[in-house]
Amino acid sequence: MKTMMRTRGAFTGLLATVAVLGCLALSATQASAATPRPMSAPAQTSAALPVVDMEATVLAAQIDPRRADNTLTPGAKASVLAVEQALQARSLLDARWVDGYFGTTTITAYAAYQRSLGYTGLAANGLPGASSLTALGQGRFTITRVIGPGAKVQRDGYTVNNRTQAMLTETERLLGFHLVLAQGSYNPGGDPSSAGTHDGGGVVDINIDSMSTATRTAVARALRQVGFAAWIRNPSQGNWPWHIHAAAINDTDLSTQAQNQTGDYYLGFNGLANHGADDGPRIPIVTWEAYQRTH
Ligand SMILES: [Zn+2]
Repeated sequence: MKTMMRTRGAFTGLLATVAVLGCLALSATQASAATPRPMSAPAQTSAALPVVDMEATVLAAQIDPRRADNTLTPGAKASVLAVEQALQARSLLDARWVDGYFGTTTITAYAAYQRSLGYTGLAANGLPGASSLTALGQGRFTITRVIGPGAKVQRDGYTVNNRTQAMLTETERLLGFHLVLAQGSYNPGGDPSSAGTHDGGGVVDINIDSMSTATRTAVARALRQVGFAAWIRNPSQGNWPWHIHAAAINDTDLSTQAQNQTGDYYLGFNGLANHGADDGPRIPIVTWEAYQRTH
């Protein structure tokens, strides 16, 4: 699934609706664990539906395709299974792949489902987005921990999305100084040396040319702290100046190439074609949403 296509509609309003529905569904599920309702109570069919954790599902869809083995992404198995069962029910996924592992076969099946909805471009890249996941779950599962990229905004003359913008703002707060971008997101073909990683959302390059080694490392660490897969890139690695390439983990607008990089980051690699070891400051890996829950 390397084919790059375009456009993903903004569905911020839908996201809000989904978030509310997700909470309601979770409450209903929790309520069902209590004593049975009186016979007069209205039927609540949603109480029987499994709950899909969207954050865990999207994380698995980035990591699992990059694994050399069949290890499952922690906390994602039940959610991925529910998604795979729904894909199987639509004859898009063979039963033998319904295993809680969001590998390349499941990515391909999910992309086919997105195309069946009429989606194209980033919205049909096999990474679950809120609207496709909601549609897939109709009558089968409800969704919690809904995530999305938000609207596109301008930063220093470059296009990023609201989620990336908030992450950069928090990174700057941690550092105490402003970061200058050298490339933004949604930039197909803009920089050939980037190999498609900037085609989608969640990805930025930061200019570190005039920084000391220690400051470069501090910036990379701060970016990682808030949920970026971030690496210092030097001129010997490619036809580029010193910069930090950062891809926001769990941004549902990530290009396929950037999805692979966030998966590689989790697995301890450098995100380059040579598949080298991670050369950045190692800290516990978090997503932006997980960071926000603890800060
Ligand atoms: Zn880059």
